[in-house]
Amino acid sequence: MELFKPMDLQSDSEKADIENVEKVRCLIIGSGPAGYTAAIYASRANLKPVLYTGMEMGGQLTTTTDVDNYPGYPDGVTGPEMMEQFKKQAERFGTDVRFGLATDTDFSGDKHKVTIDNNKQIEADTVIIATGATARYLGLEAEKKYAGMGVSACATCDGFFYRQKDVAVVGGGDTAAEEATYLAGLCNKVYMIVRRNVLRASKAMQEKVMNTSNIEILWEHQAIDLFGENGVEGAVLVKKKGTPQEEIIRIKIDGFFLAIGHTPNSDIFKKYIDTDETGYIKTIPGTSKTNIPGVFAAGDVQDPHYRQAVTAAGSGCMAAIDAERYLSEQKNEDIQKDI
Ligand SMILES: Cc1cc2nc3c(=O)[nH]c(=O)nc-3n(C[C@H](O)[C@H](O)[C@H](O)COP(=O)(O)OP(=O)(O)OC[C@H]3O[C@@H](n4cnc5c(N)ncnc54)[C@H](O)[C@@H]3O)c2cc1C
Repeated sequence: MELFKPMDLQSDSEKADIENVEKVRCLIIGSGPAGYTAAIYASRANLKPVLYTGMEMGGQLTTTTDVDNYPGYPDGVTGPEMMEQFKKQAERFGTDVRFGLATDTDFSGDKHKVTIDNNKQIEADTVIIATGATARYLGLEAEKKYAGMGVSACATCDGFFYRQKDVAVVGGGDTAAEEATYLAGLCNKVYMIVRRNVLRASKAMQEKVMNTSNIEILWEHQAIDLFGENGVEGAVLVKKKGTPQEEIIRIKIDGFFLAIGHTPNSDIFKKYIDTDETGYIKTIPGTSKTNIPGVFAAGDVQDPHYRQAVTAAGSGCMAAIDAERYLSEQKNEDIQKDI
């Protein structure tokens, strides 16, 4: 076993890592509502936070047009505009916002090490993970074409725009059943497009769906395309795909809601941070604390239930306060040791 490696025998990449180490008090990973809110609080508490934006600067909301449910905007606001304001507010108090991707972590010691863009290492006293979650789509070209023009992955966010209209929800699990019943309260008609001949949703949710008169389940159907001039006007479905009864049908709808799950962006943390079976980071209830002292999680990456901008921002605030308290406790412990 090699215990000691002389400096001149190190590979170029190892050298690059070691030469490129920066120490920070508070590192924030992610630039959505959770990351920027954590940054506002952390910078005002003098933690001098460094925030890496990731590839999607501003987070998920930059992919949407109108945000109507964030408090403080009585006339609504576009997602990109709102996130630009979050960024400005964080920078006003001194947050160092940088474009870059966290590519690896080492939380095995007291200093939490995070590699950025595979070539720089940050040693942070505290880390706030705010990397969000990514909605799953079917992978149809039409989903991209009609993004924000009838295609949505969030009924709570966009359902309001489809009042008294006809919509479809794709999926057969609990989320799909919840989204369908929520939309049924707003819309004229809700189709549930279900690939199999059963729902995966819990018994209680299934009953709720079955007892809602304006939900129609299209069993053994799969969406293969969407059509419409200036937005979604309908969907093309294949019924009983791969069987002798296979049939192509078209339904008229104004909104197409995906409810086939989200993938939390937690892969690079999983070696050290506890997650649930679907990858959501586990936090101690009522806090943003993970299983590693000094590492906190906020926003959608730790929230399989609400996934809203305002809840993400709220938990970002919690993470910054938890980080500040952690650092004060560490400082007190150090003083005690010195006495
Ligand atoms: C189309 C759409 C419309 C929506 N509309 C609304 C709405 O009207 N109202 C509402 O309340 N909510 C809405 N939502 C939900 C809302 O966007 C999310 O709940 C919210 O953005 C979650 O915030 P977050 O900060 O946790 O994560 P996100 O906004 O997902 O941000 C995650 C951030 O992490 C960064 N990141 C990821 N991995 C890394 C990495 N390895 N290194 C560095 N950075 C990384 C990304 O670049 C991104 O900046 C909508 C979502 C979508 C997709």
